[in-house]
Amino acid sequence: MLKLQILHISFIFFIFSCQSSSGQMENDNTLKSNKTYTDKSQTEKSESNTNDTISIIGVGDIMLGTNYPKSPNYLPPNNNCKPLLEEVIHILKDADLTFGNNEGVYSDNTSTAKSCSSDNCYRFSMPEKFADCLTEAGFDVLSIANNHVGDLGSYGRNNTVKVLTEKGFNFAGLSTHPYTTFEKNGIKYGFTAFAPNEGTNIITDIKNAKKIVEMLDSISDIVIVSFHGGAEGNKYQHVTKEVETFLGQNRGNVYKFAHEVIESGADIVFGHGPHVTRAVDIYKDRFIIYSMGNFCTYRRFNLSGPNGIAPIVKVFVNKKGEFLKAKIFSVQQYEHKGTLLDSQNRAFEKIKTLTKEDFPELSIYFSDNNEIFKGK
Ligand SMILES: [Zn+2]
Repeated sequence: MLKLQILHISFIFFIFSCQSSSGQMENDNTLKSNKTYTDKSQTEKSESNTNDTISIIGVGDIMLGTNYPKSPNYLPPNNNCKPLLEEVIHILKDADLTFGNNEGVYSDNTSTAKSCSSDNCYRFSMPEKFADCLTEAGFDVLSIANNHVGDLGSYGRNNTVKVLTEKGFNFAGLSTHPYTTFEKNGIKYGFTAFAPNEGTNIITDIKNAKKIVEMLDSISDIVIVSFHGGAEGNKYQHVTKEVETFLGQNRGNVYKFAHEVIESGADIVFGHGPHVTRAVDIYKDRFIIYSMGNFCTYRRFNLSGPNGIAPIVKVFVNKKGEFLKAKIFSVQQYEHKGTLLDSQNRAFEKIKTLTKEDFPELSIYFSDNNEIFKGK
C-alpha cells in the first residue's frame, strides 16, 4: 500500500515538475493544469460542506449572442445578456458547483473570423463582457471543448482562455488546457472536457482521456468529465452504443467513452453536443447524462421541437463521488426569450422515456417530483 502511495506521489511530482519545466503550450498529451487548487468560493456558496452530500449542477450549450457575423439581431437587446438567465438563476446558484458548456469564443475583435457572408455562417463570438452573465448566474466551471471554440481560429481560443482566466472561471477542454483542478468548500475537484474538434481534447482518443482521468482521480475527491459528442438533431436522440458520425465527422462512441472514463475514476459525466436531450445512465454508482441539449442559445440555433427543451441536471453525490440522486428542472427556449422554466416538464419526461428505451436493462427510478434514483 505504502509503495503504491509513494508511486502515486512520485507520479504527481513528475507531472507537476513537467509542467513547471515546460515553458510553452504543447499540442500533445502532456498533462497540464491551468489552475491548481485555487479556492474560488463565492459569497452565495461560501459555507463549508458540513454534510456528506455534494450537489453539482450541469447544463448544456450556452451561447449568449454573437458579434459575428455582424447583425443587431444576433445580440440580445441593449447588448445585455442578463435577462436571458434571469428566470433560472436561483436554481443555478443553489448548488455546491455549477457547470455548463461554453459554446463559442469570447472576443471583442472579430477580424480573425474565417470570412463568411451567407446566412449559413455559424460562428459564435460573444462580447467579452458576456462572461460576467455566467459569473452572476453562479457558474464555476466551463467546458470549452466543442465545435465552436475554433470559430475565430487560434486567436479566439487564446483570447477565450485569457477572458475566462481573468474572470476567475475554472475551465478545460483544449489540448493546451486539457484539465483543471480546484478546491471549493473543502472539496477537491478535477475537471476535463472532450470533443471531436481541432484544438480540443479529442473524444475518440479514449486512451488519452483515461490517462487524464486517472491522474485527476489520484489528486481529487470528485472528478467531472464533460464531452461534446454524438450526432446532432431530433433524429439522434437515442444513445446507439456505437460510433456516431455526423457531417462526415467521427463524433465518438459516447456510451463507450463515458463508461471507460468511469472505469478510470470519473464520478460524473456531463454530455452535450446533439442539441437535444438524451438518456441518463448509472454505471458503477456513477452518473452519466448523454446530452443536456440547448440550455441558453441566443438566436442562430434551431429551437423547434426537442431542440427547444433542455434539463438543468442537479446531481447529488457523496464525497467519494458515488451517485445518490439527481433532480431535473425542465427548461425551454422559444422566440429568443432566454431560458424559461417549462411547466410541462418536458425535459424530465423526455429523459425518462429515452432512458427506458435505451437502457431497459437498468433499474433507474423516476419519481413524481422529477428526481432520479438508482433502483433496488
Ligand atoms: Zn456544438
